[in-house]
Amino acid sequence: SPSRSSVIIVGAGVSGISAAKVLAENGIEDLVILEATDRIGGRIRKETFTGVSVELGAGWIAGVGGKESNPVWELAAKSGLRTCFSDYSNARYNIYDRSGKIFPSGVAADSYKKAVESAIEKLRIVDANHPFCDATGVHEPPCCPKTPIELAIDFILHDFEMAEVEPISTYLEFGEREFLVADERGYEHLLYKMAQEFLLTSEEGQISDNRLKLSKVVREIQQSKNDGVRVTTEDGCIYEANYVILSASIGVLQSNLISFTPPLPRWKTEAIDNCDVMVYTKIFLKFPYKFWPSGSEKEFFIYAHERRGFYTFWQHMENAYPGSNILVVTLTNGESKRVEAQPDEETMKEAMGVLRDMFGPNIPNATDILVPRWWNNRFQRGSYSNYPIVSNNQLVQDIKAPVGRIFFTGEHTSERFNGYVHGGYLAGIDTSKALLGEMRTEKTEKGRKCENH
Ligand code: FAD
Repeated sequence: SPSRSSVIIVGAGVSGISAAKVLAENGIEDLVILEATDRIGGRIRKETFTGVSVELGAGWIAGVGGKESNPVWELAAKSGLRTCFSDYSNARYNIYDRSGKIFPSGVAADSYKKAVESAIEKLRIVDANHPFCDATGVHEPPCCPKTPIELAIDFILHDFEMAEVEPISTYLEFGEREFLVADERGYEHLLYKMAQEFLLTSEEGQISDNRLKLSKVVREIQQSKNDGVRVTTEDGCIYEANYVILSASIGVLQSNLISFTPPLPRWKTEAIDNCDVMVYTKIFLKFPYKFWPSGSEKEFFIYAHERRGFYTFWQHMENAYPGSNILVVTLTNGESKRVEAQPDEETMKEAMGVLRDMFGPNIPNATDILVPRWWNNRFQRGSYSNYPIVSNNQLVQDIKAPVGRIFFTGEHTSERFNGYVHGGYLAGIDTSKALLGEMRTEKTEKGRKCENH
């Protein structure tokens, strides 16, 4: 018969690990973590690319230097994680057109200012249309970006969530600075550190605790009011528990990977379907030598093309790893999906075409390319959740709310910090606290029932 534990945690990303840690610290030791892949970390994931540690998923600790301290920044400081400050402020002065000319700083600064103003204006209109605000007067809709430089700036302002436009809690509360993780041990080192505080670890630092079960793909979650929950994995194993904490991403919840018996209620599935999933792809390219301008003020550069988001945002890795000769280009959404579907050689050709536009025909070909595929990964189905800027809070409340004995966690359940590592981390803590509360209530109610009999 299947073994029974107090809590099953589905997923060993940052939210699953932080949730498990809180439970363990509160005396819930008989927990099981079921993780689909063969590693912990989820969307925090490093890979060695031509000898250099690169982050395929989360790369930055975002929100540093503000009035409140970012808990992930604290974890990083405690474990001596190597990070580099990312100065985006110069990116607008490194905008290339298709003939390789950099837009004059006056033009660039002007376009940038206009784009920020128009974005703020747009937000104001959305706000005014909000049922809770009274809409007074007629608003002229701000004009849409049209020229390549406008499109490029629009892309970096919105698809990168630049702090100067959107009232994002991360920047408002934790500060506007961002630090790139540039550590051979990877961003995931923070997760291993966290896991080691409550899971058995071998002398070599490997997690050897049999409560962490890797390569276990959860396919079904059945619950009954009195008996608890029964979880079935793809390999036919059954696990039983009193409660489940489910940390699979919003993209996974939208897919049919996990079936629920009884089915999730309508309010829940509707909320899940209404949450937008962002796809964000960092493509790494290795070169035999450096042909781009170096220096920290040149770290980020932009390519202005008539197609929005076409190999727009570039970064050189010389600050993070001097001498690595690696460039990173970021694609999002439609462009990400398009590139995921084609062979990497095709993507390399496109990227080289763009680089030759910017730096001339004589630059060397890339020797290696790495294209992460978050959209086609059935344990992710996207990169992170994306709530409307002026979002109705009900949506995230519904996505987060438990259904019977199933508690939902993950970055997408964080009201203030969704989409970020600290969002996942804080969500895990939050969910476990809620579950501990529920467990206490259930215990008292059971106690009362016994007295009555
Ligand atoms: P996950 O890390 O996805 O954990 C969920 C786990 O559940 C995964 O390990 C998955 O394998 C597992 N799972 C899924 N389905 C099943 C199943 N059926 N059975 C068993 N296990 C299952 N954040 C930042 O703060 N800064 C950044 O710079 C940043 N950049 C990003 C760039 C990219 C490309 C991506 C993808 C994300 C980025 N993020 C960034 C977001 C950040 O990575 C996430 O918000 C955070 O890591 C999510 O953690 P989580 O625990 O909610 O989910």
